[in-house]
Amino acid sequence: MSKEITPSHSFHPWSLEYYDYDPAKEKSRESLLAIGNGYLGCRGAMEETTAGEFNYAGTYVAGLYNRLTSKVADRDIENEDFVNCPNWLSFKFRINDDSWIDIGPSTIQSIKRILDFRTGVLLREMILRDKRGQETKITSRRIASMANPHVLALQYEIEPLNYSGTIEISSGLDGTIINDGVERYRQLNQHHLSPLSEGGEGALSWLVVRTTQSNIEIAEASRLAVAKNNYRADVNFEHDNDCGKVLTQFQVDLKEGDCLSVEKVVVLYDSGTRDSGLRTVNPVPERSRRGDSGTLELCFLDLDKAGSFNDIVAESEKSWKEIWDKIDIQIDGDPKSQMLIRLHLYHLMVTASPHNENIDAGIPARGLHGEAYRGHIFWDELYILPLYHMFLPEVAKSILSYRYKRLDLARDYAKEYGFAGSMFPWQSGSDGREETQTIHLNPNSGEWGDDYSSLQRHISIAIAYNTWSYFQITDDLDFMIDKGAELFLEICRFWASKSEWNEIESRFNIKKVMGPDEFHEEHPASPGGGVKDNAYTNIMVAWLFEKAAEIWKLLPDPARNTIAEKIFLESNEIDQWSDIAKQLNVLVSPEGIISQFDGYFELAELDWNAYRKKYDNIYRLDRILKAEGKSPDDYKLAKQADTLMTYYNLDEEVISGLLKRMGYTLNEQVLKKNYEYYINRTSHGSTLSRVVHAYLANMLGDPDLGWQLYSEALESDYTDIQGGTTAEGIHAGVMGGTVLMTITSFAGINFKHACLKINPNLPKKWNQLRFGFTFKKSRYLIAITSQEVELKIENDNLDLIEIELSDKKISLQTNQTHVIKY
Ligand code: BGC
Repeated sequence: MSKEITPSHSFHPWSLEYYDYDPAKEKSRESLLAIGNGYLGCRGAMEETTAGEFNYAGTYVAGLYNRLTSKVADRDIENEDFVNCPNWLSFKFRINDDSWIDIGPSTIQSIKRILDFRTGVLLREMILRDKRGQETKITSRRIASMANPHVLALQYEIEPLNYSGTIEISSGLDGTIINDGVERYRQLNQHHLSPLSEGGEGALSWLVVRTTQSNIEIAEASRLAVAKNNYRADVNFEHDNDCGKVLTQFQVDLKEGDCLSVEKVVVLYDSGTRDSGLRTVNPVPERSRRGDSGTLELCFLDLDKAGSFNDIVAESEKSWKEIWDKIDIQIDGDPKSQMLIRLHLYHLMVTASPHNENIDAGIPARGLHGEAYRGHIFWDELYILPLYHMFLPEVAKSILSYRYKRLDLARDYAKEYGFAGSMFPWQSGSDGREETQTIHLNPNSGEWGDDYSSLQRHISIAIAYNTWSYFQITDDLDFMIDKGAELFLEICRFWASKSEWNEIESRFNIKKVMGPDEFHEEHPASPGGGVKDNAYTNIMVAWLFEKAAEIWKLLPDPARNTIAEKIFLESNEIDQWSDIAKQLNVLVSPEGIISQFDGYFELAELDWNAYRKKYDNIYRLDRILKAEGKSPDDYKLAKQADTLMTYYNLDEEVISGLLKRMGYTLNEQVLKKNYEYYINRTSHGSTLSRVVHAYLANMLGDPDLGWQLYSEALESDYTDIQGGTTAEGIHAGVMGGTVLMTITSFAGINFKHACLKINPNLPKKWNQLRFGFTFKKSRYLIAITSQEVELKIENDNLDLIEIELSDKKISLQTNQTHVIKY
C-alpha cells in the first residue's frame, strides 16, 4: 500500500476522499467514485488501467441492455445484460519509448482522490515512480456533465519531477471491451458490442458500435486539446484505428518541472430512442448522418458546442446546484453521517437525475455503477422512490411510467400463469419481460434445479404502493387519471385472481409466492414452489384492495368511465376485492406472532450462537446451510425483513385495522413482539434489511439499536459490508433507504396522511437536521434540533396549513418561519 498524504479519517461534508491505494479495495472504490448524471454512469477506475483483477472501467447508459444466449452445461441460457459501453476514459503515457506507465503498489508513491458532490468532479493527484526512479506527478480530473448528460470530460496533467524526456500519450475510445465486471458471469457470453466504424482526424476521433441483439447504436466522439506550461501545444496526432477501437497518440518533449495538460472531451449518444420505441433520450432530430442512425452526428454537434474542461465543470456545477437546492440534507454534529448521506444522495442522482424525466428506464438495484444483477430493476424502488416523490416528482413520474409502459407485458405475464390483470416481473430490463432465471445449475452436483426467486410476486405490490405513495405525496391527480389508477387497478386485479377460495378454511389463500425473505423458496403447503399465505403479501394485498376503492372514489367521473372501459372493469369488481380483503388468510400464534407464512412455526429453530461462533459472517446463511448439505427452507430464519416489512410500509394502526377487518384481533404490543421475534431470526443477508429494522427499532423506542442498525446501513457500501459486492455496483436501495429514514425516522416525518405529521426523534449526536421537500404542492423547509422545529411552508394559494407536531394538530401561517418547541 502507498503512503498517505494526509489522514484519511476526517470526513469532508461535500466529498468522498481516499488517500491511499489498496488493490483489494480498488473495485469497490471505483463504484463509490463513479461519476454520472442519470443518463450515464462511469465507474471511478483509473484512466490508465484495463479490466483485470483489481480494476474495472465501466460506463453504463440508463436502460441500455442487450440479450445473449450462452451455453451452460447442456442448456441454452438467455440473459439480458446492462451493456458496458465503449471505454471513453482510456488514457496512458510512456516516457522515452519505454513501456506504458504501470499503476500499482510498486509505482504509486502517493495518491489522493476526491469526488466532489457539488460539481461531480473526480480529482486524482498521484506521484508515480517507475523502475528507473523517474518520478511523475499526475493530476487528473473527470466529469460527467450534469448540464448536458451526453458530455464527459477528462483533464490530465503530467509533470516530470526529476527527469526530462519525451512523453508519448495514448488516448482511446475502446469498444472491444466485454461485460467482465462480475466474476460469476464469466462463463457466459458477454460480447455485447459489434463494431460499426471508427476513425480519427487531427484532434478528433470517433467510434460507433452496435449492440448485437438490441441493435442499439452507441457513438462516441472525442476531442483532444494539448497545452504545455499553459500554452497551447501543436502536436502531431496519429490515429491507430482497429476494429472497434481508436487510439490517438502524440508526443511532447518535457523538461523537469514542465506541465503538460491534455483535455479530452467526449460526447456519447445512443440510438435506443428510435430502435426500441421505448427509450426516449432527448428526442433525436433527423440530420445528415455520419453514423448509421445519426448518433455520431449528434456527438459532433455537442462536441462543437462543448467548451473547455473548466467550462463543462462550471455548467455542470450550476445544474448540480439546482439539484442540491432541492435534495440536500444537512446534519450538524456528525460529519461522518453528513458525508455518507450526501454520498448516497449523490449516487442516487448519478443513477436517476432530472435527465431521467425523458428517459424510459427504472432504477437498477446496483445503480449505473456496475454489472451485478445485470442492471435489472427489482422492488428496491420501494426504498428509493419516496425521495423522488418529495424532491424530484417529475423523475418519480418517469420511473413509474417505465412500469406503466410495460403494463401490456405484465398482462401477458399474468395470463401466461393463468391470472388476470398485470403481474410484473421480479427482475425487469429493457422491455419488461421476466428476466429472472427459473432454473439454476448446482455447481457441486452438476444438476439443474428450480430457481423460485421469480415467485417474488410482491414486486407488483411495490409498484402499486409506489404509485399510491407518489400520489399521496404529490397530489398529482392527472398522473392517476392518465396512468396511475390503471396501473394500480390492474395489479389489484392480478392479486384478486391469485387469491383462491378455500372452502375448509373459509378464507382466501395466496399460494406459490415468495416474500422478501429469499431464504424460503419452497414449502410443502405450496406445491410447485414458494410459500402459502405469506403474511407480508396477504396483508399488503388487503391494503391494496382497500386503497383501490379509495382511489376509485377520488377519480372524477369521466376518468372512471374511460379507465373502466379501457380495462373492462366490471361494476362490482372493486367491491369483490374489498370482500376478499376481509377474508385473506393470515396465521397468528396465540402469543400474537404473525406467521411469516403457513407452516413457518413448524420449522426448526437454528442454533444462531453456534453458527455465529463457527462462521465469521453469517449474512448469507442460505449459502452456509446449503454448503453443509442443509436447506434454509427447513429453518426459522430470514435473509431480510419479511413480516416486519409490512410495518415499514404501513402505519401500525392501519395494519391493526386491516387485520381486524379480516377477523383477527391482535393483543397489544403486536409490533414489539413481532419485532423481537423476527429480528432474532434474521441474518441481514440483504443490505435492505438493516434499513427496515433500524426504522422499526426507532419506532419502538429503542434508539440505540436503531442507531446501530442505521449506522451499519449507512456505511454498508462505504465499508463494503458484504465483502465484495460494492465492487459490482452500489446498492441503490440501501442508499435510498438510509436517506429516507433520516427524514421519516429521525426528522420523524410521516407522509402517509392528509396532513403532514412530524414526530422528531434526533440521534443523540446530531445537533440539527435541516432539509426541504415538497408535500401536496407546498414546499416545506424544516430544521430540527432536540427541542424545537423551525418550519416554513411555502404556498402561494393557501394562508394556513395544518400539520401535526408531536401528535398535536396546529395550523401554521404559510410563507412565514415558525419556531415551535416540541
Ligand atoms: C435482495 C432483494 C433485492 C435484490 C436487489 C437481494 O439480495 O434480497 O430484496 O431486491 O437483492 O437489490
